Amino acid sequence: MDLNQLTAHELLAKLNSQETSLKAVMDSLYARIHKVEPKVNAYIRRQELKDFTGNSTSGFLKGLPITIKDNICTEGISTECCSKILQGFRPPYDATVIKKLKESGATIFPIKANMDEFAFGSSTENSYFGVTHNPWNLDCVPGGSSGGSAAAVANDEAIWALGSDTGGSIRQPASFCGVVGLKPTYGRVSRFGLIAFASSLDQIGPITKDVQDAAILMGIICGHDSKDSTSVNQGTPNYTKSLHGDIKGLKIGIPKEYFVEGMDAEVKVIIEEAIEKLKTLGATTKQVSLPHTDYAVAVYYIIATAEASSNLARFDGVQYGYRAQSDNLIQMYKSTRAEGFGQEAKRRIILGTFALSHGYYDAYYLRALKVRTLIKQDFDKVFQDFDCIVTPTSPTSAFKIGERVQDPLKMYLSDIYTISVNLAGIPAISVPCGFTKKGLPVGLQIMAKPFDEEMLFRVAHAFEQNTDWHKIKPKI
Ligand code: GLN
Repeated sequence: MDLNQLTAHELLAKLNSQETSLKAVMDSLYARIHKVEPKVNAYIRRQELKDFTGNSTSGFLKGLPITIKDNICTEGISTECCSKILQGFRPPYDATVIKKLKESGATIFPIKANMDEFAFGSSTENSYFGVTHNPWNLDCVPGGSSGGSAAAVANDEAIWALGSDTGGSIRQPASFCGVVGLKPTYGRVSRFGLIAFASSLDQIGPITKDVQDAAILMGIICGHDSKDSTSVNQGTPNYTKSLHGDIKGLKIGIPKEYFVEGMDAEVKVIIEEAIEKLKTLGATTKQVSLPHTDYAVAVYYIIATAEASSNLARFDGVQYGYRAQSDNLIQMYKSTRAEGFGQEAKRRIILGTFALSHGYYDAYYLRALKVRTLIKQDFDKVFQDFDCIVTPTSPTSAFKIGERVQDPLKMYLSDIYTISVNLAGIPAISVPCGFTKKGLPVGLQIMAKPFDEEMLFRVAHAFEQNTDWHKIKPKI
């Protein structure tokens, strides 16, 4: 196996025993990137990838590189959220997660991962830099919005990566690309330096080749941060301790609302087999109900767009990125926003502004907040009796590029299984659990109580140790 194909923990073992060098790791990544990137487009601004050997440090990560989504601020490295409006923005500071990674001895990879503009999307087709192709089938999307991160990890163009998840943007692309993706509990990981989409839903999390890497990465990035007032002080657990493989006696809830119409028949069979597997490992399963599931997509698209419309108000050509030329200040604002934002960003700004406007605020926004509470209470109730909940990550495998672009509502339904988790603030992980007949990966989603990421790692690791799905690689 080439070095770029290994997991972070495998590479760390080799670096520690001096069996290999950081330069060799970098060289193998570069060779892979040069070979496949013209077909995949997981990375953006590739012209900025010059000779770069990594920063060998004394930290425990030994300079190991990590790939970062384009909406996480990296000092001195362009961070544009794959939007024209942030063109040329080089943050003068690091996001807290980046600071923590550097302190642990990581090298921040000098080019960033592709994504939907401002993380608006489920396919990476909304990127200013063009779509990323799914390495399992180049005609398909990699999922989104963290499609670049997931495709790069799946295709061995990255060792591991960070994504962000507001409504499924880590888990759904992880599922489409056959890798592991974790959305932490809201407040577990600092959002300082994450360019905000919907502040009450956003979380940064790991996208990795296996569960052990996700546990290591979570241990590094989590923890309280005084720069993020919503970050919670719950310590920094050693998540690798949860990787012992024993799930005997665990009680798993299977929500009946997630196994209904719209779900692909092949995906259904694969998920059912995965659930059987968990039973053979000693867990017990029982059908449960999350009765407000039906409202999740509608509630999400009101709350998320409302927050986005407010967060995006700061992009007006004055402080960051792109500025349209005009002698008139008001016209400059207008032209900057008209030329700088893509279609989906405009759609969301309009929708969110409408939901927040006088006369509609109570009918839409406030109502959505109330239903959000009901969705959260559904989970609280189930978690009184169950250790975790298992569902598909997405109702389908990766779809064809172009298939849903003209139909935003259909695109929004891609997130039907991931969105409730963000509304409720709970953690969830997606792990590879099989392939369709056409060879596209399918992901299993595991959800747990707030701040019980240990449970996710425990179940996901036990599943992974007893299956081989994560070992299969795309052939391009
Ligand atoms: N696909 C969802 C959306 O378009 C979620 C995106 C995300 O999690 N950033 O809003």
